[in-house]
Amino acid sequence: MNNFERFQTFVLQQSAAKDGAISPPIIGSAAFSYGDPKSAEAVFAGESRKPLYARMGNPTNAKLETLLAGIDQGDGAVVTSSGMGAIAAVVSAFLQSGDEIVCVGGLFGGTYAFFTQNLPRFGIKVRFFKADEEVVLSPQTKMIFCESVGNPSLTVVNFVKLGKLAQKHGILFVVDNTITPLLFEPFSWGADIIVYSTTKVISGQSQALGGAIIYKEPRKDLFIHFPFLQNFYENLGKDAIMGVIKKRALRDFGMSMQAHAAYLTILGLETLPLRIQKATDNAQKLFLALKDKVKVLYAKNEQYFPFGTGQMMGIDFKSKEDAFTFLEHAKIPFITANIGDSRTLALHMRSTIYRDFKANELEYLGVSEGLVRISVGLENCAMIIEDFENALRKVQ
Ligand SMILES: *Cc1c(COP(=O)(O)O)cnc(C)c1O
Repeated sequence: MNNFERFQTFVLQQSAAKDGAISPPIIGSAAFSYGDPKSAEAVFAGESRKPLYARMGNPTNAKLETLLAGIDQGDGAVVTSSGMGAIAAVVSAFLQSGDEIVCVGGLFGGTYAFFTQNLPRFGIKVRFFKADEEVVLSPQTKMIFCESVGNPSLTVVNFVKLGKLAQKHGILFVVDNTITPLLFEPFSWGADIIVYSTTKVISGQSQALGGAIIYKEPRKDLFIHFPFLQNFYENLGKDAIMGVIKKRALRDFGMSMQAHAAYLTILGLETLPLRIQKATDNAQKLFLALKDKVKVLYAKNEQYFPFGTGQMMGIDFKSKEDAFTFLEHAKIPFITANIGDSRTLALHMRSTIYRDFKANELEYLGVSEGLVRISVGLENCAMIIEDFENALRKVQ
């Protein structure tokens, strides 16, 4: 059984009750009554598994967490208010002033802005390496961070090398797998923590903002650099990272998911395997149809992505004018800052998300003057190809 079918079976069997409501309940309450003072004390002592307060979690989120952990066969998950919330939670829960992150390969603009414009204010330094550069750690390096497929650079890093490097130095290896859930398995290549923006292909229809952190039992060699992790491990065992994230980030920074968003995300998650396979298939066909007509960027890597690299691609036009001409004539794509939707989406990068970045930053992030990011959807592939070819004719 392949990974798509494994997860498809798991999510459909686990999301609904065999006896009762098929669609999972939305528990919208912000607070939960404990019944009596002894029970209240037990909840706060962590001896009772009843919900404490919605900032720390709620039953609908807990359902989504169980399902999301199944994508990567992790030991558990923590959901957050957005993908940026997930990244901020991991960084703020594990790092402190004086620590350093090493970032490899291309990076989503929001993450890059967080790492360069805001983390330095808290004394956390980030150093950047290109996918093919030699990565050099320093004694302050506590985390290696990369994306499965760079958004929108479409770079793929050497995961084997980075995984081994992180293990050798007892530091965390965090992979943002937003673009390629089920297509890529970061835990198999040495990742300690996987983050997702569930806003993208996981929910799938632009219906809910959200993020997730997927974890497994922590490596014991992490305890040297992260002594607090050992304390959580002694209390929670394989769920130690859940404790770290909840007590050192969610509780105090409050990037918690709303129950209604969790519900909408579950609905999307139930069809993730079908959608991601179809969208990837469409993207591969579109790439082949266009590659001799225009400069198309699409990641290919058999070692890590035997089933393809997902639905994201780029068209590298010669100029902003060409990019605009294409976008003005293409009828199928929605012009939007999102990716991973069931619909085909497109956006000129330089004039929108990346408008405030400097030349050297744009170069690192893989954003050229004419780059149009495409997220291929589930529409009929021949129609997408025809529409793109028509729009390209207006450019040439
Ligand atoms: C969109 C995105 C994020 C941020 O997610 P939000 O849900 O928009 O906060 C992080 N990483 C990647 C790769 C993304 O594409």
